[in-house]
Amino acid sequence: MDKKGKVYIMGAGPGDAELLTLKGKKAIEKADCIVYDRLINPRILGYARKDAELIYLGKGNTEGGVIQDEINNTIVQKAKEGKVVARVKGGDPFVFGRGGEEIQALYENNIPFEEIPGITSSISVPAYAGIPVTHRGMARSFHVFTGHTMADGQWHNFEAIAKLDGTLVFLMGIKNLPLIVGDLIKNGKDKTTPIAIIEKGATADQRVTVGTLENIVEIANSKKIVPPAITIIGEVVNLRDTFKWFEDSKLFGKKVLVTRDRRQAGEFSDKIEEMGGCAIELPFIEIESTVDKFDSSILKKYSALLFNSPNGVRQFMDKIDDIRDIAHLKIGAVGSKTEELLQEYKIHADFVPEEYLIDRLAQVSVEYTKPGDNILIITSDISPCDPEKYSSMYDRHFDKVVAYKTKKIIRDKAQVLKALKSVEVVTFLSSSTVDAFMESIENDLDAVKSIKFASIGPVTSKTMEKHGLNVDYEAKIYNVEGILEAIK
Ligand code: SAH
Repeated sequence: MDKKGKVYIMGAGPGDAELLTLKGKKAIEKADCIVYDRLINPRILGYARKDAELIYLGKGNTEGGVIQDEINNTIVQKAKEGKVVARVKGGDPFVFGRGGEEIQALYENNIPFEEIPGITSSISVPAYAGIPVTHRGMARSFHVFTGHTMADGQWHNFEAIAKLDGTLVFLMGIKNLPLIVGDLIKNGKDKTTPIAIIEKGATADQRVTVGTLENIVEIANSKKIVPPAITIIGEVVNLRDTFKWFEDSKLFGKKVLVTRDRRQAGEFSDKIEEMGGCAIELPFIEIESTVDKFDSSILKKYSALLFNSPNGVRQFMDKIDDIRDIAHLKIGAVGSKTEELLQEYKIHADFVPEEYLIDRLAQVSVEYTKPGDNILIITSDISPCDPEKYSSMYDRHFDKVVAYKTKKIIRDKAQVLKALKSVEVVTFLSSSTVDAFMESIENDLDAVKSIKFASIGPVTSKTMEKHGLNVDYEAKIYNVEGILEAIK
């Protein structure tokens, strides 16, 4: 007998990755296999297990029957292999999403399933354009239509549609826009009724085109509108003048390449997207742990512990057995991020110098220790930390442990250039990412002429300049927020 898995037919919302529901996120985290389409934000796939199988079945236009059969067969097959399958669709599965057909196939094969609704683009894409589908005193209903004609050429009853007072929403309607507005006018809808077309809603590429039934076809032609797009018709479109918000976000429309290591990239990407930008992750460094463990026998002889980066904190915390092993130690940190990460582990640093310098941290540690004390510095292979110098200067004994190494990731030039095609700004948060980036593109400055480069601070900027890169933006405060502030 076949082992039976289970299939989640689920919606992921449109564009903005954070429009995924909590239930949808759980299903993705659990899935052995994920079958997804072109309308979802690929960042959602980041919630998948590392070993999950990812299958893209979308092919531009999913309306063709062939691909739908392939999708049905795939989810049935994978479930029969005993797998948990997440079938992830843009928007909601039951709003022109063919979720029903997939469920029929599962039902016929006796496969357990759940349907997880998603936020449909028919309401949320207008919302991201500042257009509410209903509004008191203006629209008491909204009606959602497909903009496709049926295979036999049949079309909606426009005589009835033209009489509706509510807001009209058309999905997949770009090709048939002239037909839609023509039939509405022909059937008596006021020619001056406002209409908006929203392309790639809730993404950094969102573009909104507004007109009236009378002139929209001409405007749409001149602007070369492309799918996916939503057409919304009614008085509510005028509310956009005051309700528009998404396009006013600080980083709206900016596509930013994140080059830092995978473990830290997420936090940075989230910030970019919160500000309305689009983050594309392509790490050029990797943090590699270089210690097995920190046990009490090592730690007991010290009286202070100094951290010069969040990575140092993370690596150290990963490698201690018992948090009480550091109870006797004074703790110092360089940088507010290092301090914040310590706090996440419920450790309050005793001292954090104003300046972001390891030399300064060593100097301040003197106030918290006695002559002859042993002080341990947790650091990386490339840190300018110099324990011998500190020992000779401060009448203490300083040791350092290199807890992690920063390993460059050298990528294939073609792969990098492909990623850069959809990017406006490349961000560098360290010199090593600059080196690895330049090595990957074989120092081909010509290939990156049209790209802007952002730096976290003067040290990184210097490395960029050494390679001949422009420093288009430099953070004033040397952290993630600072670099985004500079780009904005
Ligand atoms: N199930 C989906 C709709 C699938 S039909 C949902 O509930 O949203 C595909 C159509 O959805 C597209 O042709 C377009 O009209 C609309 N659409 C989906 N995502 C969109 C987006 N981000 N911006 C604009 N339109 C979108």
